[in-house]
Formats: sequence, structure tokens, C-alpha cells
Amino acid sequence: MDIRKKFLEFFESKGHKVYPSAPLVPEDPTLLFTNAGMVPFKPIFTGEKEPPNPPRATSSQLCMRAGGKHNDLENVGYTNRHHTLFEMLGNFSFGDYFKEEAIAYAWEFVTEVLKLPKERLWITIHESDDEAGKIWEKYVPKERIVKMGDKDNFWQMGDTGPCGPCSEIHYDQGEEFNSPEDYLGGEGDRFLEIWNLVFMQYNRDEKGNLTPLPKPSIDTGMGLERITAVVEGVKSNYDTSIFRPLLNKIVEITGKEYCQDKRGASHRVIADHIRAVSFLVAQGVRFDREGRGYVLRRILRRGVRHGYMLGQREPFMYKIVDTLAEQMKEQYPYLLEKKEAIKDAIKLEEERFFETIDKGMALFKEELAKTTGDTFSGEVAFKLYDTYGFPLDLTQDMLREVNKKVDIATFEKLMQEQKERARANWKGSGDVKINLKDLEKYEPNKFVGYEYLRYETKVK
Ligand code: ATP
Ligand code: MG
Ligand code: MG
Ligand code: MG
Repeated sequence: MDIRKKFLEFFESKGHKVYPSAPLVPEDPTLLFTNAGMVPFKPIFTGEKEPPNPPRATSSQLCMRAGGKHNDLENVGYTNRHHTLFEMLGNFSFGDYFKEEAIAYAWEFVTEVLKLPKERLWITIHESDDEAGKIWEKYVPKERIVKMGDKDNFWQMGDTGPCGPCSEIHYDQGEEFNSPEDYLGGEGDRFLEIWNLVFMQYNRDEKGNLTPLPKPSIDTGMGLERITAVVEGVKSNYDTSIFRPLLNKIVEITGKEYCQDKRGASHRVIADHIRAVSFLVAQGVRFDREGRGYVLRRILRRGVRHGYMLGQREPFMYKIVDTLAEQMKEQYPYLLEKKEAIKDAIKLEEERFFETIDKGMALFKEELAKTTGDTFSGEVAFKLYDTYGFPLDLTQDMLREVNKKVDIATFEKLMQEQKERARANWKGSGDVKINLKDLEKYEPNKFVGYEYLRYETKVK
């Protein structure tokens, strides 16, 4: 079943306009990456921009939750449900419909379009939100409507501005999920959160006071990979038709079988990271020493390190791009169109890291052998970073396998000192910039029509 298409068509049939996935690098300067479906609509929710006509929208938005506010990087590979890059299906009302319809639509979609068994659906509401509770009682027995506090069920855009309670739909994957073999760690696998409905009904001022918004709005988000796992009846996002081809390719490249339990973390990390890296590169982000480009580098190098664990000693991640591009070609044809340039960029960055990874790994192992407590030397972590190109989170990821932590205070002190030295000595950048002429010949992606979100990438 093409769930993405079903979702967009469903909301289109309810009067929503279908919007394309906005760029991962958002217009909003306060955000590192687009991390939710509502991000491109933020100025409308805050009132800076007039609502469009119709005041209803739907999209399948590419989101990144690595670095920045929502950071799921540490979870990736170790839970069944988190990715760095994923698609968020959403429907939005800009001062148009509110709770009643938002709940009715969501319920209709999951039970009638996706035909999920009703008895497995659980609802959470904010403890203050009797209104939502009453509406849900029309569909779900009271016992499966659970009240939650601010932490899980109150949403706000920032310290001030639009905010409100939310209500989440969870899917009970069954008691067997309590068995340790299936349970990859991190709570929430048995009762899997699939869809978050945000009811924007207040404005919060500087003093923290809430005043009702004259025209409340709706923002919802459902992870495509998660709902696909539920619909396909598999226990993990990685066992879906979205991830399986990537895992198969990784098995083919490495010759190492994939395990669904903890032992499969490296396969999962690589499968996840190649998606994030490919889309970021396709959308113009470049490997760099800072900012977004450094997040991109960290993700790629983490993936490479996991490949190293599986015996890879030369670039391999780029070889997975063909499979990904093929799989995404309907929705994101630009991946296929720019495939060769994307592969070149990734391969080049892999080559750079493979030049130093052996020495870095040797240093890491040597230091680890000397480490008796649970704290790994901050000096060595810094040397790994500075001399061998191991981002801090990569070293931390290696240490997690042996239950140890980096001495962060020392690492940060050295980092600070180095920054000061660099500032004092700066004579212009000696860094060789990767010049990807090949990517530059394309114009930015242009949306060309509502035939299920065709993009066109024209050669200049
Ligand atoms: P979780 O509690 O599982 O971390 P969340 O509460 O942080 O999820 P929301 O911010 O409510 O997630 O995002 C809306 C939906 O997007 C979630 O219900 C889920 O289906 C999906 N989602 C969120 N984070 C991820 C992720 N890292 N990878 C894949 N899907 C995600
Ligand atoms: Mg989360
Ligand atoms: Mg949650
Ligand atoms: Mg949530």
C-alpha cells in the first residue's frame, strides 16, 4: 500500500491543498533543519503571514532530527522507531477546523483507510483537555484514553507564541513486545506512538500567561516509516519495505547477515544514515567543519565507522545510493537525477575519513585497554577529533558499546583552547573546499505539479 499517497489523497478529499516537502534547510534561521511538518507553515501559525486559501494543508515532509532541538541521533540503530531523516505526514488547519474534525479525520484515516484494528489503538490526551477526551469517547472506550502531563502532551513552538495541548494515537504492538529480544531499548516500543495531533489554542506571552487564540489551529504529524511498520505488520521500521532494500544492499556489500536484535545496530545505522546523507547532499548541504555541513559529516562518519565494524576498509556507503534513489524515484526523482554527483560527494568524504580511521581506531583501542574506570580520556577523545577526524559523538557511540563515557569537561577545555589558538593564528583558510561542479549545474529543485508531488531538477 502506498501510504504516503493514500494519506495525501485522503486529506485532499477533505478539502486540503497538497504541499510538496519543503527544503531540509529551513527559511527559519533559528532552526538547524526542518524537524516537523509544520515548520514551513510556521509564519502562518504565528500570524506573520496570511493563511492561504483554502486554509487547510497536507504534506509529507522530509524531516531531520539530528543536531538541533530534536536530536534523535543517539537513538538511531538502537530503537526500532527513530531515524535521523524521516517523512512526517501531516494535516494542518489555519484557523479553520479544530479538535472535532481533526480527531474525526485521524480516526477515519487509521481505521477506514488503513484499516488498523480499533482495539489496538490507544489515545493520550493532555490532563487539562476534557474537550478532546469527550470527542475521543465517541470512538474509543474510556479505558484506552490516557491523561498525560505537559512533558508528553503539551506542545509549544518556543518560549512564547502559539501552543496548546496535544493528543497522540498509539498502537499496541502486543505483549510479546515486553520480551527482551524484541525490545531494543528505549521505552515506547509496545505502545508505539504513531500520530501526534496538536491543538494550537493558546498564545503564551513573555510572562508565561496563556490567552486563548481567536482562531485555533491544527498541526498533526505521523511518521511514515512507523505507520508503514504497523500497516505491514512488522516489529521495526527497519523491517518495512522502506528499509529492507537498503539493509539487503548492506548485507550484499559487507557479506554480513543482518540481525533484528542488538547485533544489527551497525546495519541499521548505515541504512538510516545513507538516507540522511543522500538527501542533505542532494539538497545542497556540503561536508564541512561547522554548522549543518558538520552535522552532515558527523552522520556520514558515524555510518563509515559502523561499516568499519563490519569489515569495510574502503568507501562503501556511496554504493547504497543507487538502491535508495531507485526506491525514492516516484516521490523524489531528484535523487535519481543527481545520483552520480551525490555518490561522488559521498565517496570523496568517505575517502578522506578512511585515510585516518585505521590510526584513529588503533589509538582508541589502545586507550580503551588502559581505561579502568568508566571514563574515557578527554585528551584522547580530542586527539581523535583533531588529528583523526573522529567527531565527538562518534567516539561516544563507540564507547556506548562498552558502557563508558568521554571526559567531556577536558574535551571541551581543549576544544576551547584550540579555537582561541586558531583565532590568533588565522591567516586565511587552508581548507580544501570540495568543489562539486556537478551539483552546481542544477537549479534548485522546483515543484512542478500536484501529480503526487513531482519535482523537476533542470539543468541550467
Ligand atoms: P517519540 O516519542 O517516539 O520520540 P516524538 O513525540 O518525539 O516521538 P513528535 O515530535 O510528536 O515525535 O512527532 C510526530 C510523529 O513523528 C511521531 O508521532 C512519530 O510518528 C514521528 N517521529 C518522531 N520522531 C521520529 C524519528 N526520529 N524517526 C521517525 N519518526 C519519528
Ligand atoms: Mg522524540
Ligand atoms: Mg513522544
Ligand atoms: Mg509526540
